Amino acid sequence: MSPVSRLRAWFLNLVAAARPTGPLTRAGSPGYKGGMRVALLRRSAPEPTHVTVIHAGTCYPVAVRRRSAARRITLRVSSATGEIVLTLPERIDLAAAQRFADSHGAWIAARVAKLPERVAFVPGAVVPLRGVPHRILHWSTVSGATVATTAPDGTPVIAVSCGLPHVGRRVRDFLEAEARRDLTAAVARHAGALGRTPKRLTVRDTRSRWGSCSAAGQLNFSWRLVMAPPAVLDYLAAHEVAHLAEMNHSDRFWRVVAGLYPDYDEPEAWLKRHGTELHRYG
Ligand SMILES: [Zn+2]
Repeated sequence: MSPVSRLRAWFLNLVAAARPTGPLTRAGSPGYKGGMRVALLRRSAPEPTHVTVIHAGTCYPVAVRRRSAARRITLRVSSATGEIVLTLPERIDLAAAQRFADSHGAWIAARVAKLPERVAFVPGAVVPLRGVPHRILHWSTVSGATVATTAPDGTPVIAVSCGLPHVGRRVRDFLEAEARRDLTAAVARHAGALGRTPKRLTVRDTRSRWGSCSAAGQLNFSWRLVMAPPAVLDYLAAHEVAHLAEMNHSDRFWRVVAGLYPDYDEPEAWLKRHGTELHRYG
């Protein structure tokens, strides 16, 4: 073969190999195409949100969270929600994460065993309101207002009047409304003393913080504060109102807090000690 015809043959082969359409591509090199398909599927399939860890015959669902900022695998059990969470850096594959969780089965079981028992809002359950234990009294199935009162035997009760399936919802709505009322009054008092006006007040079921204050002056609180002794809610209101003047936790900020609520060490200590217990209700 002459150099020219060799070059021509090489070029024709190249063109044939690169031809993108026709039966050759569809029928040919199935391994390669199949491989591509598997690879694509693997990349696009959503990762499971949970893995399961089995320890001493009990299954524990573990939530999987990818965090680009995470440096290593971490495992925690939320004392507020009881949720078991595995946080992973992006580069760690799920199998390695599963092995990590499996190797901590005993630790998970011990942490879950120590979680405070949950108290559902059902008839007969005892729930604190402004620091005082109240029994949920389902006294009528006719729809009516929920009230905090005292039973004839002197027991503080949250009296609920509605169909049985709605008792939990009614109690929760009642506590949220009471929280909003107490917080609105406390915020107005402290804001008046400071000479500032908050933009808006919202009450939610926040998990990580009891209260917050945005740069725009919007205050947000957990409704669960209404279950704590009144001083705790009052202090939290003062704390967030103080952020209207100082958006930080500097010495200056704490001086503003002290001006509004002088003995803030006590409610701070109460929250550190008992705060997570408030999350076990409802
Ligand atoms: Zn703060």
